[in-house]
Amino acid sequence: MADYGLLIDYEYCSGCQSCEVACKEEHDFPVGKWGIRVFDEGPWLKNDDPDEVGPDFNWNKIAIPTDLCDLCAERVAAHREPSCVHHCLAACMKFGTVEELAADLKCKPKQVLWVPTNLEL
Ligand code: SF4
Ligand code: SF4
Repeated sequence: MADYGLLIDYEYCSGCQSCEVACKEEHDFPVGKWGIRVFDEGPWLKNDDPDEVGPDFNWNKIAIPTDLCDLCAERVAAHREPSCVHHCLAACMKFGTVEELAADLKCKPKQVLWVPTNLEL
């Protein structure tokens, strides 16, 4: 089990895809391979009641690391933060220990805590 992970606050993710590009640049992944992808969930109306005032949409952008994510091991070893975290335009990504991130997770909804597979930092 990894000791480190990423906490992603998807309430504030704008879907800008800077994390995708930063990760590809950092790792020089070829066309078709990614360390992180941004997904679109929605938009769809949460309430179809015609008497409701104004539209109320569910629309979430969610960045999800892939199996190629190594948590930017080389950068982290050099005391730099992961490339996606550094370049996130909404500053909604955080790198840290699972314990630290889990504590942050308890403080705010609409976040996801992600840990990589088979990786020990
Ligand atoms: S931590 Fe590094 S490898 Fe993982 S998604 Fe972010 S940029 Fe890519
Ligand atoms: S860089 Fe940040 S705001 Fe932009 S898509 Fe990725 S997680 Fe969302």
